[in-house]
Amino acid sequence: MGIEYRPPVESPEVREILTRYRDVWALYYGLSLIGWDMETYMPPGAAAERGEARATLQKIVQRLMTHPEFVSLVESARPRNDFEAGVIRVLKRDIEYYTKLPPEFVEEEARVTTRAYAEWVKAKERDDFQSFAQTLERVFELQRRKAEYLGYEDHPYDALLDRFEEGFTVKDCERLFSVVDELSGLFKRIAEGRPREHPLEGEEYDRESMSRLNEHILHVLGFDFNRGRMDVSPHPFTSGIGLDDVRITTWYHPRDFRRSLLAVVHEFGHATYDMNIDRAYWATPVQEGASYGIHESQSRFWENVVGRSREFVEATFHEMALALPFLRTYAPGDVYEYFTLVRPELIRVEADEVHYGLHIYLRYEIEKSMLEGSLEVKELPGMWNEEMERLIGVKPKGYADGVIQDVHWSLGYVGYFPTYFIGTVLAAQLGSKIPELGEKIAQRRFGEIMEFLRERVQRWGSVYSPKELVRRAMGEDIDPESFVRYVRSKYLGS
Ligand code: MG
Repeated sequence: MGIEYRPPVESPEVREILTRYRDVWALYYGLSLIGWDMETYMPPGAAAERGEARATLQKIVQRLMTHPEFVSLVESARPRNDFEAGVIRVLKRDIEYYTKLPPEFVEEEARVTTRAYAEWVKAKERDDFQSFAQTLERVFELQRRKAEYLGYEDHPYDALLDRFEEGFTVKDCERLFSVVDELSGLFKRIAEGRPREHPLEGEEYDRESMSRLNEHILHVLGFDFNRGRMDVSPHPFTSGIGLDDVRITTWYHPRDFRRSLLAVVHEFGHATYDMNIDRAYWATPVQEGASYGIHESQSRFWENVVGRSREFVEATFHEMALALPFLRTYAPGDVYEYFTLVRPELIRVEADEVHYGLHIYLRYEIEKSMLEGSLEVKELPGMWNEEMERLIGVKPKGYADGVIQDVHWSLGYVGYFPTYFIGTVLAAQLGSKIPELGEKIAQRRFGEIMEFLRERVQRWGSVYSPKELVRRAMGEDIDPESFVRYVRSKYLGS
């Protein structure tokens, strides 16, 4: 049985574009499946061969996307509705990206980042910044060049940021991070009055039972196992291979069960976004999330606003305790305390929701200054440690728990970090728009919550730019103050 979904096409040029695009879509489908496999089941010896196959497929995508006939079709198309306008907008962005960067540059970047990644892994293992410093300098030099190729109006960082968050600029970042000092003060106040540790962190769990609990929670939340699955990987992630094949992973450590469970809830958010995109957009360029930040808003909404709520813990405690017998000596309130521990962390990915954004701000400042040329690589560790002390109140002892803890720079992902905070803020902001959210969670009416997200955000894929989508979804722009209010009310009861 063939699939025939009817995209809302009115203009013949767009119809022709979509027919041609089907080849690209199929290649992306294959590339996603390959990418998922690389992080889950691929035998380690296959890495080099897989890399070759992947690079070749990517080259074919680029060739199809930059084919002169295809390009001129896209350029001359006159969209007649929102869907068509979205298709053309997304394609123009991709074509621009592929054509503005000279092939030699793309190759050089791939070569440098492949080496940088390997060096970063070693440098982090040995806690050695010096061995990585020169390569890091090269990476930022390439990113500066990349910004020049891509072009920008005000700031070179805008060019890089735009790849991850369409239309978002340094000006928007300044507004987004305008709450940083307030947040830092709030965080210190909240952390001061709270225990630094929780006994549940030390409780050992049985992996099989944990996995069954994870699966059960996914059922409770409404995950469609007919169109998705859950596996294990070194770092949790979601892979949206197609509209009917969306896969998540989680991880298992011997103790500290919330890391496994909340990772599942987080990835559930990403996965349902990919699954809830309007079927009419199937196999078109808008069958994907609007941006990294919007995607992250869906995952953080489920992880933080739902998963870390008192109502959620109370509503699912019984099942948690069935799977994890040690919980029988604890009360739901203990689990809630454990899920909402607030304490200074050196490592970004370990940070609680209250001070996570401070970690992001630090990275944003560094990236921006590096691109401006106002900061040198050799000054990085010093600046890092000073800012950590100022914002969060802790100082790394070495480099592995400081300036070289993240993989992003080694991969050349400069401009990516702000999307995490965009997601965090939007998650809280969306939560404030859902009527009776607390009751809905308490009564496990997760379908109703999902309905809100689907209608306002998810179903639209990337028909609208992220900024426009946010405005349509909530009638306002992203507002960092809404996150501050969320933190105040959840952690200070004010
Ligand atoms: Mg995520």
